[in-house]
Amino acid sequence: MLARVQRLLLVEDEPAIRIAVRDALRAKGYEVDDTVDGAEALRRCRSGDYALIVLDVMLPGLDGFELCRTLRREGDRTPILMLTARGGEEDRVRGLSLGADDYLTKPFSVRELIARVEARLRRASWGTDRPPGAALAAPGVAVDLARLEARVEGREPASLTPREAAVLRYLAERPGRVVSREELLVAVWGYPPGARVRTRTVENTIGRLRKKIEPERKRPRVVRTVHGAGWKLGEEVRCDASS
Ligand code: CA
Repeated sequence: MLARVQRLLLVEDEPAIRIAVRDALRAKGYEVDDTVDGAEALRRCRSGDYALIVLDVMLPGLDGFELCRTLRREGDRTPILMLTARGGEEDRVRGLSLGADDYLTKPFSVRELIARVEARLRRASWGTDRPPGAALAAPGVAVDLARLEARVEGREPASLTPREAAVLRYLAERPGRVVSREELLVAVWGYPPGARVRTRTVENTIGRLRKKIEPERKRPRVVRTVHGAGWKLGEEVRCDASS
């Protein structure tokens, strides 16, 4: 059976990158519209039906941040993969806090970009991206994010705080991706991007969350630590947005 061809929008003003990425995506069977200009990209997004947008940050006209912010404000939830400059941690955090779904740092390999695009499209087709995971399960544990309730086999149900649920939901919306402390501070706690804050609040919240949701507290499998980088959801976790 032939799957429906998916249309992607590529917004990148550097010719070499634009052409390489466009041709590689087309070779994978995607229909690709490309543009060098942020304002033109916004017009196309408003009229087109794209499965995903690959969006450079530095653009003439309207930059990638503004474009992302505008789309989300207008209720457009099309997945966005942002291309950021090397070492631009603030750019990455800013993009994610404005509603981008993922990022790649330049220089990147086209193969990695393709892998990210495919992973993101798979997730979108499972429906786990929207609305934010209402339920989450792993062997021995079930979490209802709408009811703020966690059930671990052999224990009394535990109530999650809204903050704990928000952390879990944020991770659930980004399966497989490592989320840093700074990103969580911006997205869940509302700190401004780039703020230099000394706080253990993220670690403490995750510690409390784990006591409620991890079947084995000493060997967390739901919220995994990636040393020096942050946290991500374990591979065994299933998310279900339908409930
Ligand atoms: Ca650029």
